[in-house]
Amino acid sequence: MRHYSPYEIISGKPDEGLVLLADHAMNRLPPEYGRLGLADGAFERHIAYDIGIEPLVRQLSAALDAPAVLGCFSRLLIDPNRGEDDPTLIMKISDGAIVPGNHPITDEEWQNRLNRFHRPYHRAVSQTIAEAAAASGKAPLVISLHSFTPAWKGIPRPWHAAVLWDNDPRAVFPLIEKLEAPGDIVVGNNEPYDGALRGDTMYRHCMMPGIAHVLIEVRQDLISDAAGVAAWAERLAPILAELNAMPALHAYQRYPSRTGAYDG
Ligand SMILES: [Zn+2]
Repeated sequence: MRHYSPYEIISGKPDEGLVLLADHAMNRLPPEYGRLGLADGAFERHIAYDIGIEPLVRQLSAALDAPAVLGCFSRLLIDPNRGEDDPTLIMKISDGAIVPGNHPITDEEWQNRLNRFHRPYHRAVSQTIAEAAAASGKAPLVISLHSFTPAWKGIPRPWHAAVLWDNDPRAVFPLIEKLEAPGDIVVGNNEPYDGALRGDTMYRHCMMPGIAHVLIEVRQDLISDAAGVAAWAERLAPILAELNAMPALHAYQRYPSRTGAYDG
């Protein structure tokens, strides 16, 4: 079996104190998993990954000289943006149909996917954030990038981008203000999804240690080709640079999670 890396770290200047994350960057999985028993084309769709995010994060990382961590396995295999005890960690159902490679699944295979994909990805995220903290001498700012489908159950979504968060507002309000400033896009605030999810990537790496963060979702049809990706990289890069220059976003401050008390 060839070695399969479950993550990729794009190097940047850790002393700038900015870290980019892309949990769902890729639709790949090791060849022995086939297509998890799904039809041809399933892995080209949004159910397998966040369309447009890999090239967008590569361009943002280059423009900002910021380190980035990319997840290199499809979320259909195991979802890196779910806690280890989340029942949707390995999806039984996708698009209303059973995922044959995921259900039924043995405890051994469940543990295998945690050990081989999920945990190494999160170790890479922890390590990259720790390096940025050490090199910059302050709390880093973490920006997580995702994308969402333009329509849900046949209803078009009005937002061009969305800002999802739990309860740490530090990066959120300045970001929304800067995104809305040109007046040409509609920005969702905790829509179409609520950003408070116990055990997810932002909870674990940012809410718990008190690191300022925000999760940005871009609508997939806007970044489905190279021109769209370039336009959104150009739109977001200066905004993220402005956020990263704000001292308030580089202090450790823990906010209570809307999902309940912290365990640790
Ligand atoms: Zn995503």
